[in-house]
Amino acid sequence: MIPKVYISGKLYEKADAKISVFDHGLLYGDGVFEGIRSYGGRVFRLEAHVERLFDSAKAIGLQIPMSREEMARAVIETLAANKLADAYIRLMVTRGAGSLGLDPRRTTDPQVIIITDQISLYPEELYDHGLKIITAGTTRNHPNALNPKIKSLNYLNNILAKIEGTEVGCLEALMLNHKGEVAECTGDNIFLIRHGVLKTPPGDAGILEGITRGAVIELARQVGYTVYECTLDRYDVYTADECFLTGTAAELIPVVECDGRVLGSGRPGPITRELRQRFQALVREDRSR
Ligand code: PMP
Repeated sequence: MIPKVYISGKLYEKADAKISVFDHGLLYGDGVFEGIRSYGGRVFRLEAHVERLFDSAKAIGLQIPMSREEMARAVIETLAANKLADAYIRLMVTRGAGSLGLDPRRTTDPQVIIITDQISLYPEELYDHGLKIITAGTTRNHPNALNPKIKSLNYLNNILAKIEGTEVGCLEALMLNHKGEVAECTGDNIFLIRHGVLKTPPGDAGILEGITRGAVIELARQVGYTVYECTLDRYDVYTADECFLTGTAAELIPVVECDGRVLGSGRPGPITRELRQRFQALVREDRSR
């Protein structure tokens, strides 16, 4: 089946899904996006993703040309048109086409783009055995420069760190903030577990406040775990009993090594495995939003 791509109110065949080379989304990375997933035809936390998209847009002064409800409906309709049950959905809003020059006032018509695709996960064996990561030398964007809370179309900060990881055979890389504190990985949030307590960096560490992160915090608290959002450094990572990452694409994936240090037992730990199972049950059941 030929996938259909939504662009500003219409569905196009993949080959015909095109936008202008003068779009400031392309010229300057000027725009915002979301990565969303559906399970069994139901979109996981669609409202939260749409809200984050609108918040990102507001932060960069971009007026999205439709309401939140229309945006949510467009996602659901695009998914239905593509007859995908388990899908990865890429929702983007660009600044729109304009003349050369940074000034957003040179643009007209922000473009809303929705691409749906099969989900490509990390290989299953990594969920069983855990990821190895390194700390990247690339510092996560300073919140006063480009706040990581904004999910902007300019992901070069993360891509530079990702390259550092892949060059040494690691599929994810840990990024520290400008103070040297643990922030997040290139496309995932990070959790540590020590003596049965979960810890994850707070929003003001300079992170994207992941929807999966939020769901896992809720879930862990519901089943009785203590979760702290607190400042963490690399010492905390190296001495953790367990470590895992969260993200829409990755879901919840264990980490067993960082910078050559074996974390905990070197195997995915029991709390990580329990939370992964509970998260998988949640995404298939969640009808709450
Ligand atoms: N941090 C970054 C930098 C990301 O790109 C992502 C993935 N969108 C995440 C964290 C995880 O966020 P979410 O759980 O909302 O996918």
